[in-house]
Amino acid sequence: MKNIDPNILSVAFRNKELCARSGTCIGVCPTNALSLGEDMYPKIHSDLCNECGLCNKVCPGEQVSYSSLSELAFGQRNGHNSFDGHVERTFVGYSGDARIRKNGAGGGVVTALAWHLLKTGAVDGCIVTRMKPERPWEGEVFIARNYKELLSSQQSKYTIIPVNTIFQEIRRLHGKYALIALPCQIHGFRKLQQQKPKLASKIHLIIGLFCASSLEPYITKEMLEIKGIGKRDIKNFNFRGGQWPGRIRAIMNDGGVRNLHYSNFKDGAINYLTYLYSPPRCQTCIDGSSEFADIAVSDAWTRDASGKYIFESQSRLLARTKIGVAVMEAAIKAGDLVAKDVTQDPNYQTHRLHARKKGTTAYVRVERLKQEGKPVPAYDRNVDDITPAERRTERIESFLMRLGRIRAIRLPLFAFLTSRYGIPLVKIRQLRKKRKYR
Ligand SMILES: Cc1cc2nc3c(=O)[nH]c(=O)nc-3n(C[C@H](O)[C@H](O)[C@H](O)COP(=O)(O)OP(=O)(O)OC[C@H]3O[C@@H](n4cnc5c(N)ncnc54)[C@H](O)[C@@H]3O)c2cc1C
Repeated sequence: MKNIDPNILSVAFRNKELCARSGTCIGVCPTNALSLGEDMYPKIHSDLCNECGLCNKVCPGEQVSYSSLSELAFGQRNGHNSFDGHVERTFVGYSGDARIRKNGAGGGVVTALAWHLLKTGAVDGCIVTRMKPERPWEGEVFIARNYKELLSSQQSKYTIIPVNTIFQEIRRLHGKYALIALPCQIHGFRKLQQQKPKLASKIHLIIGLFCASSLEPYITKEMLEIKGIGKRDIKNFNFRGGQWPGRIRAIMNDGGVRNLHYSNFKDGAINYLTYLYSPPRCQTCIDGSSEFADIAVSDAWTRDASGKYIFESQSRLLARTKIGVAVMEAAIKAGDLVAKDVTQDPNYQTHRLHARKKGTTAYVRVERLKQEGKPVPAYDRNVDDITPAERRTERIESFLMRLGRIRAIRLPLFAFLTSRYGIPLVKIRQLRKKRKYR
């Protein structure tokens, strides 16, 4: 076994807590010396490593330069400091294909755009994800090349899937592809674009998802364990299955459906899952809106004064680049996407909670950890005027997330919250949310 200096490798080999598990290092390695290991971290086959250092250069874990990525994506160094980032036009809408809409996490717009690109021949395949057919408690990335495969990729999998490992395959393939990815994976891709422009030019369009946090891959196994369901007894695991906004559920081998939680996804589970299962690197990520995508997609959680969702089963789309705007317009014209332009709509509310979590709290955390001498990602962006209340919120949330890392605490808490005894908490939360919109 060769001894390799960890400083020339991606950050996972120096500090796992900084690894975003985007899979970029694995995807880019010219000698395939890196592969996916336990819990989705990269592992090295040192005899294959030629010590080129490329995995380190594309790694989004330790450093993300907003100015250089802004220049690459938008041709200007001074990016926007707002949570939504650089936006050309904003839309709210849903898929023109009823099946795609019904099957989607939100309005099925990500898949509608992907289908539009495939159908019109703009791309040969779309880089998407699914729960593994043979191990449905784990996610995987794959290239969808037709309608049926795209349908199987729908829904949000709120767990880490190192999407950029797919560049191992893309390197060998001809053609153009659409990349559908989370913010950290897009950071990795953009860094890859700086190092390997020819490989990156195979990506025709990047569709980014908004992301408050991913969740540790072991969440699915623990949830099944708590509910007394054997892993081998399920054929699929949904984070947002069924009627919008969806529920966490297991699809059993006999076709039966077991709900794993007493509420829909939005009002219940997500609010504490992020504390119990948020990976360390997600806690220091400041990009909640896929700032370097061509089109970024979020749920359209906007409510009216009575607390009712205005855009049920719809999504919000931010077209950030020229190609993003062009694809949006073409998809709307072809009827593949039904969307209205809300760029000028003064009533449109963005995600206030999400913006607070990533737009402020994550910055505060990075600053605090830096002052304490702990390793943090380097960003060339700061947030001004942090209030004492924001500092307090960060401390409380960080404390809860530290508790969540202790299995002996996490499991009973998770069991309680997802049991019928957790229902009053969900109800209180729903009432508080309604009051807020009065
Ligand atoms: C981890 C995670 C966190 C998110 N956090 C937020 C949030 O805080 N606020 C918000 O508004 N929206 C968030 N989203 C996005 C939201 O859940 C929907 O995915 C989005 O609105 C698209 O809905 P859709 O119906 O258009 O997509 P669909 O048509 O259902 O397609 C979903 C697409 O997302 C891809 N995908 C699913 N899971 C992953 C994954 N783990 N990694 C990479 N790609 C994946 C699929 O491959 C598919 O292409 C998050 C999504 C994920 C995966």
